[in-house]
Amino acid sequence: MFRILTKTAQTGLVTIGYPDAPPAIPEAYRGAPKFDFARWRDALPAATACPTGAIAVRDEGETREVTVDYGLCIYCGECTAADTTGAVQTTGQFELAVRRRSNLVIRAEYGLTADGVQGALRTVEIGEGYREQTTEKMEARLRRRIHEVLGRSLAIREVDAGSCNGCEVEVTALNNPLYDVERLGIHFVASPRHADMLLVSGPVTRNMELALVKAYRATPDPKLVVAIGACGISGGIFGRNYATLGGVDSTIPVDVYVPGCPPRPQALLYGILLAVGRLEERGLPK
Ligand code: SF4
Repeated sequence: MFRILTKTAQTGLVTIGYPDAPPAIPEAYRGAPKFDFARWRDALPAATACPTGAIAVRDEGETREVTVDYGLCIYCGECTAADTTGAVQTTGQFELAVRRRSNLVIRAEYGLTADGVQGALRTVEIGEGYREQTTEKMEARLRRRIHEVLGRSLAIREVDAGSCNGCEVEVTALNNPLYDVERLGIHFVASPRHADMLLVSGPVTRNMELALVKAYRATPDPKLVVAIGACGISGGIFGRNYATLGGVDSTIPVDVYVPGCPPRPQALLYGILLAVGRLEERGLPK
């Protein structure tokens, strides 16, 4: 017993300060790629290397349209390796959660010469998810919002709609001493009947479709749905096929999308904060 107490005193506090304090991201962490569109002289090598189709190139006449979809990105880093122009960088960025699916998509238009060489950048349309985010004092905001909007703590039911369990590993980490979401007034519950929010992972396999719909119907209003991971947003590497439906919003309405493969715990927390803000926007209930 004495040994345990001594060890506890020696270890001290391990819980991180995020979202109140900036996240300490390990150097080895591979987050979302970042694109310098003005400097990108040729998007084709990165698009060819991308295993999920998150980077797409469409040539038509004298125009090349390049689309980057963070809802499909699995943060594999292949685009950075394939790009020869230095315009694609792998970053530690993870705060990309958005309320609208379309905000995860960037479109850039370039000129195209007759022999298929990419020319100068003409326009670029950047979604909300790509913009720099600030986490300053988010912990206080999150706690205040949860209490203001719900009048109590936030209860979450996690639903695995056919994931590889990568997302579940990160969701489970939210409850460990390092992330400790209970400090923010967030609790995971066993039944959707006791939940305010469904946190849904996976490309929605056809075997899980009915279970997901039932969980959604069983969750009392006003309810929130947060789709997590590339699979939860778009079907990820599975997409839509005979076995999967291709993302949570193919089956139930989604309030917030959290990109990543899987999203790290802080990314999940960031998405939860956005979702609570959404409830607040609906004016429910004070
Ligand atoms: S990091 Fe994302 S965009 Fe880049 S190759 Fe991998 S899946 Fe495609």
